[in-house]
Amino acid sequence: MTFDTLGLSADLLRTVGEEGYTTPTPVQAAAIPVVLEGRDVLAAAQTGTGKTAAFVLPILDRLRHHANSSFSPARHPTRVLILVPTRELAMQVDESVRTYGRTVPLRSAVVYGGIPMDPQIKVLRAGVEILVATPGRLLDLVGQRVANLGQVEILVLDEADRMLDMGFLPDIRRIIELLPPRRQNLMFSATFSDEIRRLSRTILHDPATVEVAPRNTAGEDIRQLVYPVDRDRKEALLAHLIRKEDLRQVLVFTRTKLAASRLASVLDRQGLEAVAIHSDRTQPERTRALEGFKNGDIRVLVATDVAARGLDIEDLPHVVNFELPWNPQDYIHRIGRTGRAGATGDAISLVSIDEVDLLRGVQRLLRRAIPWTVEEGFVPDRNAEPQPLRHLRPRAGGHPHHKPLRARASAGGARRRR
Ligand code: AMP
Repeated sequence: MTFDTLGLSADLLRTVGEEGYTTPTPVQAAAIPVVLEGRDVLAAAQTGTGKTAAFVLPILDRLRHHANSSFSPARHPTRVLILVPTRELAMQVDESVRTYGRTVPLRSAVVYGGIPMDPQIKVLRAGVEILVATPGRLLDLVGQRVANLGQVEILVLDEADRMLDMGFLPDIRRIIELLPPRRQNLMFSATFSDEIRRLSRTILHDPATVEVAPRNTAGEDIRQLVYPVDRDRKEALLAHLIRKEDLRQVLVFTRTKLAASRLASVLDRQGLEAVAIHSDRTQPERTRALEGFKNGDIRVLVATDVAARGLDIEDLPHVVNFELPWNPQDYIHRIGRTGRAGATGDAISLVSIDEVDLLRGVQRLLRRAIPWTVEEGFVPDRNAEPQPLRHLRPRAGGHPHHKPLRARASAGGARRRR
């Protein structure tokens, strides 16, 4: 299949060709024609599936007749609102709008929190047709009477599941009340939870559903592996694996900011260039860390789930779960960072005895067992007692049960007491 059959105009097809895209990704093939028709869309697609182009390209085509060279801000009202959960994703989507829209003379802008508002105010006052925004900052700008959403024709909710996880639902509802009732709505979400379906029913009208990957399954081109290990040996095992396998560009997940900072400094002290990226970092610090990681100066990027959301790193070869996430769906988000756009990737999980229940939750969601291996020299202590997980969230259930991991470690053969 080629892009030519999707109904996009010639200059956009040329842009796509110049970007080196030869074949539309499944979400692009399914979504572009329906968005062009003006229909609402509910699409299940993770970052890395080409979803940004799937909505940006047809939106550019639908809006191009509004392009004009007037200096009057009134001639450039906001016609498209793209809501995203994080600053990183906002920056990436904005970049995609500029890239894909380089031949279309519409104005675009991005607004997100954590940086001064004045430059954003200046840009919005001049008038922009396409606005990419995080919800909180957008509402601040509406409050200041700088952003006017009364002429929005198309609303995009990108990574809607993450927006709900981050507690943006009230903000989203307030924003929607400011939009004209007649508009096109596009909702993208990595997973379709019941909550997402409920939200979609209140926002979308007769949507076309685009579900390219089966519900709640990880990409087939990602190799997954579990290493059972004692909690206090995880740092050593991770450093050992990075050295032994000569891993580069490793994205490591922890559950907390504190654990991310601590792990990054332990690895860094051992000569493995590592940086933690989390929401306490300033925007310039985060951007610098991401750039260093992309260009290979930083070997290991340690992130929490919230911070990692929306990071676009192409062909990322390795994802490590230093700690399993509380929420099994986050496991799918995390490992979605690898094996993108057809590349293969590895997703390694270091699982201690107190995480067995979390591992079970992940396997239940995936509807399959993840293969495991015991690394020589890191055999877990058979007699270890599981420690209650700190900060245990009520939905994670009661105290973890350690039997399966013990069975696994011994089934692996190399048994040794430390
Ligand atoms: P996204 O899911 O929108 O974050 O896109 C993931 C990556 O895939 C981006 O870096 C895009 O440049 C790239 N991409 C998008 N569409 C295609 C395509 N049809 N062929 C090859 N790469 C693509």
